[in-house]
Amino acid sequence: MTDSPPILPGATLGVFGGGQLGRMFVHAAQRMGYRVHVYSAHHGSPAGRVADQEHVGRLGDLRSVASFALSVDVATLEFENVPTESIKVAERHTPVRPGSHVLHTTQHRVREKRFLAAAGVPVGPFEPVDSAEMLHAAVEKIGLPAVLKTAQMGYDGKGQRVLQPGADLDAAWEAIGPGDCILEAFVDFSREVSMLVARAPSGELVLYGPIENDHAHHILDVSVLPAPDTSPETAERAAKIATAVAERLDAIGLICVEMFQRPDGSLLVNEIAPRPHNSGHLTIEGCRTSQFEQQVRAVCGLPLGSPESLRPAAMANLLGDQWFASDGSAREPDWIAALHTGAHVHLYGKESARAGRKMGHLTLLSDTPEHARAAVRAARSRI
Ligand code: AMP
Repeated sequence: MTDSPPILPGATLGVFGGGQLGRMFVHAAQRMGYRVHVYSAHHGSPAGRVADQEHVGRLGDLRSVASFALSVDVATLEFENVPTESIKVAERHTPVRPGSHVLHTTQHRVREKRFLAAAGVPVGPFEPVDSAEMLHAAVEKIGLPAVLKTAQMGYDGKGQRVLQPGADLDAAWEAIGPGDCILEAFVDFSREVSMLVARAPSGELVLYGPIENDHAHHILDVSVLPAPDTSPETAERAAKIATAVAERLDAIGLICVEMFQRPDGSLLVNEIAPRPHNSGHLTIEGCRTSQFEQQVRAVCGLPLGSPESLRPAAMANLLGDQWFASDGSAREPDWIAALHTGAHVHLYGKESARAGRKMGHLTLLSDTPEHARAAVRAARSRI
């Protein structure tokens, strides 16, 4: 905890990463009177296009990172795989929230799981793996089915493979290795939920969730807040877990804790995202303060806003696939039809659509979370 003075509107905020999460952060920060500089790998990134300044450089270019850090009053990130070394260099010139110690833990699945276990947070069985021999030994301990994942740089199911009983372990290692990996017991879950935590330098903290998340092909598809049929005990356990994670990590800013809920109602943490999360996009219209405004407030040391849910909300991602007809020809989605449904349309300003690429999302509020979910799915099917 620190009691550094707040960084007030008019100051310049920096964001590492130029994607849609950065873009929505820029929108929230500028609305509050901040200037925003975005550090991105390419000109014309979704965040860079709306920022006051886009600084183009490699995330590993320490000189470029240092000059960016010198240009801002505080920095945050929208992408967790910024090299820790770069964030350490940035920290010599400006506060970075969350800091390099958080990234060091969350960038590596084995370190992350060990941290969670040491913090008393429930996680499934796991074993570090960095050779075919270690994979055989890990399978002996954990059993199958299990999931083999690269320890670093994996996202949206990339760099992972489910190993069923009888799987050819050497072939699996050929496909996913070499390098640090983790073997996780396959969790038999009934649903996936997430909690968002905003934490200020003072230690003040607010929570959103649980949010229920449906995935398709390992990519988040639809999120719903509040997660339907959540008992008060489950909500309390999720809140306790998320609070423990943010406090033990000493994370300042906005983080997301992704969890599996098992058929008996118990929760296991899958992973931590040290940044706003796709499942939190529905907070823009659904909550009194969005996750992005909360990130601004937290990194600037301002009072946090109310996370109160205004109405049940559901969000559906729009992937690049929507920009193609069933015969593969390019088409423009029917925005008029989507808007007629009452959905809020968000587009990230990406120039080219590709299958699986997150291009935007729809959010719809309704009287119950189930209605919101059905309505947002229906709205998406009409575009
Ligand atoms: P991750 O990249 O770790 O978030 O994994 C992507 C998705 O794969 C998760 O959202 C789950 O749907 C699934 N998954 C990951 N790990 C496991 C596991 N240990 N057991 C079962 N499903 C998993």
